[in-house]
Amino acid sequence: MNNLILHIEQIKDKDLLQDFEENAEAFPVLADMVQDRECEFIEPLKISVKAFRIRELFEVEGTFQTRVRLSCSRCLKDFDMPVKSNFVLTYTRELPDMKEASDEEEVELRIEEIGLIYFRGEEIDLRDGIQQQVVMTFPLRRLCAETCRGLCPKCGADLNQGDCGCKHEPTTNKFAALKNLKLTK
Ligand SMILES: [Zn+2]
Ligand SMILES: [Zn+2]
Repeated sequence: MNNLILHIEQIKDKDLLQDFEENAEAFPVLADMVQDRECEFIEPLKISVKAFRIRELFEVEGTFQTRVRLSCSRCLKDFDMPVKSNFVLTYTRELPDMKEASDEEEVELRIEEIGLIYFRGEEIDLRDGIQQQVVMTFPLRRLCAETCRGLCPKCGADLNQGDCGCKHEPTTNKFAALKNLKLTK
């Protein structure tokens, strides 16, 4: 059963408040991420929305939160982190009159370009809109900690656990260079 549905007869002059809880597997794109081992969802998504109507526009403001398990791109260890965000999605079922557009599909694409999501009938399916928001919230840099020292390129030891004893090429230290800098007034 798809429970990420808003029934528009319930969205009238009063705000409609609704909470959902849904497993990541219910979202095709998130299910693919799990399948590709990009991440694991260790909690279901908790979603709260407030929907209201402005003439033919249905505005859905909401928040979502979950926890994911990622693997650190430096030390390769798994770590958990919260993924949460706010979003605003605007739905419409009125197709604007677009003379240049040749068919309905093209009109839908143009609607999306201006940030609206097209729907038909009496129900708004939040699934696609929300899964897009979740994907956008994923961290680009997957680090267990900003200070993660990663693995030794020579022996593969986890440098967070201490020095492995390998000789590392000296790295240039920009602060050392600054020390010799004389500030003139
Ligand atoms: Zn790490
Ligand atoms: Zn080493």
